Amino acid sequence: MLRVAVVGAGPSGVYTAQALVGQTAVPGVRVDVLDRLPCPYGLVRYGVAPDHEKIKSLQGSLRTVLEDERIAFLGDVEVGARGLTPARLLELYHAVVYCVGAARDRRLGVPGEDLVGSFSATEFVSWYSAHPDARPDGFDLGRSGAAVVVGAGNVAVDVTRLLVRRPEELRPTDIPQGALAALAGSGVREVHMVARRGPAQAKFTTKELRELGTLPDTRALVDRAELALDPAYDDPSGLPAAARRNLDVLRGWPAGAADGARAVRMRFFLRPVEILGEDGRVAAVRFERTEPDGAGGVRGTGRYEEIPAGLVLRAVGYQGVPLPGLPFDAARGTVPHAAGRVLRDGVPSPGEYVAGWIKRGPTGVIGSNRPCAKETVASLLADAPALARRAVAPHPVAALRALGHEPVSWRGWLAIERAETALGAGLGRGPVKIPDWTGLRGAAHSGQPIG
Ligand code: NAP
Repeated sequence: MLRVAVVGAGPSGVYTAQALVGQTAVPGVRVDVLDRLPCPYGLVRYGVAPDHEKIKSLQGSLRTVLEDERIAFLGDVEVGARGLTPARLLELYHAVVYCVGAARDRRLGVPGEDLVGSFSATEFVSWYSAHPDARPDGFDLGRSGAAVVVGAGNVAVDVTRLLVRRPEELRPTDIPQGALAALAGSGVREVHMVARRGPAQAKFTTKELRELGTLPDTRALVDRAELALDPAYDDPSGLPAAARRNLDVLRGWPAGAADGARAVRMRFFLRPVEILGEDGRVAAVRFERTEPDGAGGVRGTGRYEEIPAGLVLRAVGYQGVPLPGLPFDAARGTVPHAAGRVLRDGVPSPGEYVAGWIKRGPTGVIGSNRPCAKETVASLLADAPALARRAVAPHPVAALRALGHEPVSWRGWLAIERAETALGAGLGRGPVKIPDWTGLRGAAHSGQPIG
């Protein structure tokens, strides 16, 4: 039997587990999927916006994989904590696949970034997704008026959309009650989503962009003169299809005033240089106007513009976090690898693999993790004869307990699901997420422990 630990129960971890048990070349593979959270599904649970129910429903197919009898879910087990080092894991399993994602948000590196009212989009997303590590104080949106979202990727679109969504649209989702109440009382009327480059270089996908233009009671606005700064505006023929489609959507958006409605205002060619404060709170963002440099990048023009805002969210991408004991390429924010085999000093480390964002960086959609996981699993299976000869401890769960971990089993997770259904029922809603560690652990351990 080949015993494999997959670290991380997000899409890349689950697809890795699926590929491991779904093949016939190496029979008898058993997989433990470990996660530092008591809940599976990673960014599908804690990143995909609550109003994107179709993408959320992917949880159903991830669930089917995790219910396979050859796969065990072990939640609330943090690799790197309580002596569970990568070296120790290798004593418990023939192979370990790290699918730990890219947990940290990138910073702007401009003055004022830490003023009250300036946050990373990750903090905001964690809050409305009920992540147990989210800011305990939540977000005070009551007096914000205008918000600036820096970045032009899909995360920027998500947080922009959530800021203008009406509470009655969010109520049927599993958004936690505290976030729903805060968004219902929000004073944000206008969201400026600001890109440092042009529409042809924006990272968001057309479907997400288009949705911004269809939100009830919200006007999506764009300044035509700003669009026209992009040479591709007049002649998009040289653009990739996705960028051409984005331009088509933006062409259909009007310019002008919000006319009393909530507004999403898309801005281009502005790079943030400072977040300005008043009495210690965010008051505006100062941008330098940029212009295309002819090579897909931009250069500064020495002209500046301030956008008043009481809330600033930076949505400028994620980056991987080093895991002590595992090699890390700080420049790329990933673990060095060859076809998924972890490289230590340039040489494949027997039994150690990576898949997902920690392998290839924080790009692509959820489905991109499938081929990525398959590549890694192919490497692992090719190594299987040597891996099977490695001596490992007989009872990994007992060894985890001996280190002080108290794994949440699949039954424990199902108990969390039941508790979330009960919480929602008490509020007259469908299932509502439990937002704190105590609540999650309490619910999990009311389910049956691992035998
Ligand atoms: P992203 O797609 O890499 O976008 C990051 C944005 O931040 C880019 O517009 C980038 O501009 C900008 N940026 C970076 N540094 C900046 C700086 N210093 N100042 C100003 N702007 C800066 O990252 P993301 O939005 O975090 O998304 C991560 C991945 O998750 C993507 O693959 C995304 O598609 C995926 N995702 C998908 C969905 C969905 O399908 N609905 C939802 C959320 C996330 P430059 O291009 O100029 O660098």
